[in-house]
Amino acid sequence: MKKLRKALAVFTAASLIAVMATACGSNNDKMNPGSSSGGSNYNLVSDGKLIMGTNAEFPPFEYKEGSSVVGVDAGVLDLVAKKLGLTLEIKDMTFESLPEALAGRNIDLIAAGFTIKPEREETMDFTDTYYTARQTILLKSDSAYTSAEEMKGKNLKIGVQTGTTGMNDAAPTLTGEDNIVGFNNGALAVEALLSGRVDAVIIDNNPANEYKDQHGDELKLLENQFEEEQYAIAVRKGNKELLDAVNQALRDIKADGSFQKVVDQYVR
Ligand code: GLN
Repeated sequence: MKKLRKALAVFTAASLIAVMATACGSNNDKMNPGSSSGGSNYNLVSDGKLIMGTNAEFPPFEYKEGSSVVGVDAGVLDLVAKKLGLTLEIKDMTFESLPEALAGRNIDLIAAGFTIKPEREETMDFTDTYYTARQTILLKSDSAYTSAEEMKGKNLKIGVQTGTTGMNDAAPTLTGEDNIVGFNNGALAVEALLSGRVDAVIIDNNPANEYKDQHGDELKLLENQFEEEQYAIAVRKGNKELLDAVNQALRDIKADGSFQKVVDQYVR
């Protein structure tokens, strides 16, 4: 299982092709500020800082350790910020409020296990992908269901994180809109499942596995029931300088192995 998750996770064929395509097509932009500028050409919220917005209740991508936010996204963005000559600052907020925070210049980018979706691409620009995920169903371990198919049309109450692909894309394939219950984070949705307020939770595969590990035998997972999703970092629409710089940094940290080290540190 762990092997499968890892194999699914990183450097899928699609992301490799995307990386190669950009690498081949890239000219060295004369305007590229480089690391010595401290990011003055990246149209940042605050000079010298790279402000990342996230919802730090999404392990292993972002979660709290004491008062600091750690996880794959924090680790990767720390490497990216260093490449850009910037200091990383992380703002924790509800998942739902991230797009508005980006558009309203409260943050420079979203790094939140954030799936590329055509609707989102209308209001923000995405970097190259860095991780492949799938929505996963969490059930109480005594549930009889063994597939998403069996759950369809049963009027089940499904807990999701508000504003996610789990809520907008996966859950509606199984139940009616009125039965979809939004929570501010995955932990609250899982609590509702354990106390019987919802019949299932849909959340991305890595957090699903973390929640299952946290709750031992009480939960079970139905994996591989939905299409693959690609995570990427989102920047403000039209902020090409920052987009190009982050893409270059991602290529560099994938090439030098430091990206994989961060993934291995947090993804078991
Ligand atoms: N990948 C999902 C999405 O982008 C959920 C992300 C999250 O909850 N942090 O909608």
